[in-house]
Amino acid sequence: MNKIALNVISCKTNLKSDAKDNNSFCPVCRGPGIFVKNITVRHMVSDDLLEKVGISDYYLCMNKDCQITYYNNDFKIEFKKSDIKVPIWFKKDAKPKYACYCNKVTEEQVINAIIDNNATSVKDVVRITGAMNNPNCQINNPLGKCCHHIIQEIIDKNL
Ligand SMILES: [Zn+2]
Repeated sequence: MNKIALNVISCKTNLKSDAKDNNSFCPVCRGPGIFVKNITVRHMVSDDLLEKVGISDYYLCMNKDCQITYYNNDFKIEFKKSDIKVPIWFKKDAKPKYACYCNKVTEEQVINAIIDNNATSVKDVVRITGAMNNPNCQINNPLGKCCHHIIQEIIDKNL
């Protein structure tokens, strides 16, 4: 095999791996997304769009200014904010801004617990607000993850 043929092969390999990496970037804003399992997305999108979700996993666009929420570049599927049943807390104009989706505790309630009730830890916030009680984050939280880190972030910002 000559050198040019070899170069072509390695070039194709690169393209392939790039395409895989591109999968995690939002098709609209080109910002980074976070991997979210199919089961979570199924519980987030409006019931009339369930068929469109299919069986694949998705990424959630983390750009607060972008209208896109879940997307899958392999299948060219994307969902907008208006396709989702709950407001995505970090997106602009999310109302209310939930910190804990399982118990519908808002960012405002967490801030009040810090300011009015001197909460300084996630444990305090949980006791005062009732957050993280009977959690089922895989289907309630838009990332499918425990809201612990969201509450911690609010505490760090407001202490
Ligand atoms: Zn986006």
